[in-house]
Amino acid sequence: MTQLAEFPTDWRTALVLVAHPDDPEYGMSAAVHRWTRQGRRVVYALATSGEAGIEGMAPSECGPLREGEQRASAAAVGVDEVEFWGFPDSEVFNSPELRAKVTETIRRVAPDVVLATYGGPEWAPGMPNQRDHIEFAAAVRAAYDAMADPKPAWLFVNGPGATHGVAVGDADVDAAVHALAEHRAYLSVLDPDTPVGKQAQRQVDMTTPAREDFGGRRATGFELVAGSGDA
Ligand SMILES: [Zn+2]
Repeated sequence: MTQLAEFPTDWRTALVLVAHPDDPEYGMSAAVHRWTRQGRRVVYALATSGEAGIEGMAPSECGPLREGEQRASAAAVGVDEVEFWGFPDSEVFNSPELRAKVTETIRRVAPDVVLATYGGPEWAPGMPNQRDHIEFAAAVRAAYDAMADPKPAWLFVNGPGATHGVAVGDADVDAAVHALAEHRAYLSVLDPDTPVGKQAQRQVDMTTPAREDFGGRRATGFELVAGSGDA
């Protein structure tokens, strides 16, 4: 079995780039909690406000609600810099405008590491990825590749083909559960029969398994997709 490498540690700032509210919480936030606990800076930037994401709710009501839930989620793992770019939810495309926004944000935040939404066709056999995620990840990759130096040393995605692991402890997992549960309105419509806290616990347990390919430690996995740094 190929072993996961240790996620790099010689960095100060990470920029998390995702399409929607809750994307950071479905897989990354336990690692984010560990990093902020270590005193690192983590910034979240979201292409959309997720305004099309709650069935039966008008976008004008849903967008601000989900931005609020996302800010509370971020705060639960020590992130207080959260920005929303205002691209239309469910209509994210790898457009020149989106790529320009990615580039501008990377230049402004000046991270050492960029972490993006997974952009492959499926999470697992029979579990297709969403088009917004695929388009968004393609825009991030294209913008990163086109940047002149100096640019962030690493671009990782949070997907099924992990190459690197971040070991997480109970406090990180608990914070990640709390973070996901902050998406209260969203989760209670998504699955009305399961309490939000239970949904969050189940999801975080799934994304922070004890990994045989990481010395049996509980870990969040990331796939290195591009970079010039040592990893
Ligand atoms: Zn999403």
